[in-house]
Amino acid sequence: MTDKYTALVSRGWGRDVAKRLGLPQPVELRRYSSGDPLLPGPALLIGSGPSAGMLEAALSSWGVEVRREGAPNVAAPRAADDGARSPKIGAIVLVLDGIERPEDLSAPLLAAGHALRSLAPSGRVITLSRRASTQDEPALGAARQGVEGALRSLARELRAGATGNGILLAEDVRADAPSVLGSLRFLLSGRSAFVDGQFLTVGTSAGELPADPERPLDGKVAVVTGAARNIGAAIAKTLARDGAKVVAVDVPAAGESLVQVANEVHGTALQLDITRPDAGEQILQHSLSRHGRLDIVVHNAGITRDKLLANMDAAKWDSVIEVNIAAQLRINDSLLASEGFGDGAHIVSVSSTSGIAGNRGQTNYAASKAGVIGMVRSTAARLAARGGTANAVAPGFIETEMTARIPFAMREVARRLNSLQQGGRPQDVAEAIAFLASDGAAGISGNVLRVCGQNWMGQ
Ligand code: NAD
Repeated sequence: MTDKYTALVSRGWGRDVAKRLGLPQPVELRRYSSGDPLLPGPALLIGSGPSAGMLEAALSSWGVEVRREGAPNVAAPRAADDGARSPKIGAIVLVLDGIERPEDLSAPLLAAGHALRSLAPSGRVITLSRRASTQDEPALGAARQGVEGALRSLARELRAGATGNGILLAEDVRADAPSVLGSLRFLLSGRSAFVDGQFLTVGTSAGELPADPERPLDGKVAVVTGAARNIGAAIAKTLARDGAKVVAVDVPAAGESLVQVANEVHGTALQLDITRPDAGEQILQHSLSRHGRLDIVVHNAGITRDKLLANMDAAKWDSVIEVNIAAQLRINDSLLASEGFGDGAHIVSVSSTSGIAGNRGQTNYAASKAGVIGMVRSTAARLAARGGTANAVAPGFIETEMTARIPFAMREVARRLNSLQQGGRPQDVAEAIAFLASDGAAGISGNVLRVCGQNWMGQ
């Protein structure tokens, strides 16, 4: 499950040889570790106005040194001008919520471009802008949508583990709303290592930032399905690290490893096939009786039964739909109908880039994973009245036993087909889920966050 190539070309002679031969040059990504500084260098804040002031105040309060490129028509100094002496920039933050016409993009984007050569390895470029809407004047809509095109292209130009992502604000959401600052912190940190070319949409000002940013889930009870191994086990460990009490769910056949995971995270194990008609009641009952509450549900359990559609049989098709989406729908229905599923609950479902872009041999799987996206959008609307959220993460190529089974040549190509030129780790998916499960993301609902290193498939 390890990517030996990335380890080889990350340093020393391996790096030189790869460079000379023009081979892909993935680097070890900056990943979150407790106590690390938020960024590997100061932040360059491009833009002016109240939102820029709000972000500057937040960054400073997080211990980040902020350099301002205040006036939007003043370009940042070229990296070549100040030479190698100036320290590398940890992040470039572009405040674009005031733009009105496509022409307004020129000065801030060019200023960012001039600063790109000074960006540190695993640095960040982050845009803050307003979500385009059909109500916008056409020029305004063009400017706002333009940000998305520019950011996604810029992200593809970054090197050395740097990523580019954006935060989209609904019309009445201020730049200092909890979920805007929560998103900013997540995207700057090593928690978002494999999130690239993505946008988080903040729809409301709900939520609050955690008192302790290292334990954003303190006091919460979380259920994780498919927790016995790989991505599910990483989710259980990450939610527990962030302060949650975890109920680890998996099929009885995986009982031994399930208990190991549950013990490791000081949580409890629930042996349960999620396709059972009473799975929702069992989950709720276990959580309430053992831990007194239920705040977070992570639908991670999933299976593949790949075949070209021409060779697909009903058993393969139906089992994938049943585990990956029908069971989740039933569990959500029963939780939402109960009193015990608290107000302000967070549901996070694991989708897949196959559900967005499609994948040969995976019509059943893609139908189920696209179904997950449809489900979280509708569920988000239902949970809104109770202050809850429903979101999905869509992993791309993640280094697990599932992807280790792909034949070598195909696997080697698949893991390089993204801007970071490597596969992600289960931990990367878990970090995105932990963020979306936190109250610092309570203003984000109905989103699909890809954790795919900006895979070439789909958006
Ligand atoms: P995995 O097969 O290693 O683990 C899945 C877990 O779900 C297993 O422990 C399994 O026992 C459990 N499970 C399956 N059916 C169940 C049922 N009916 N009831 C309870 N538990 C059940 O898979 P993984 O690679 O860790 O993937 C986890 C999730 O991420 C899945 O939903 C998968 O589709 C998705 N995903 C994975 C990748 C990847 O690259 N590995 C990419 C995109 C999406």
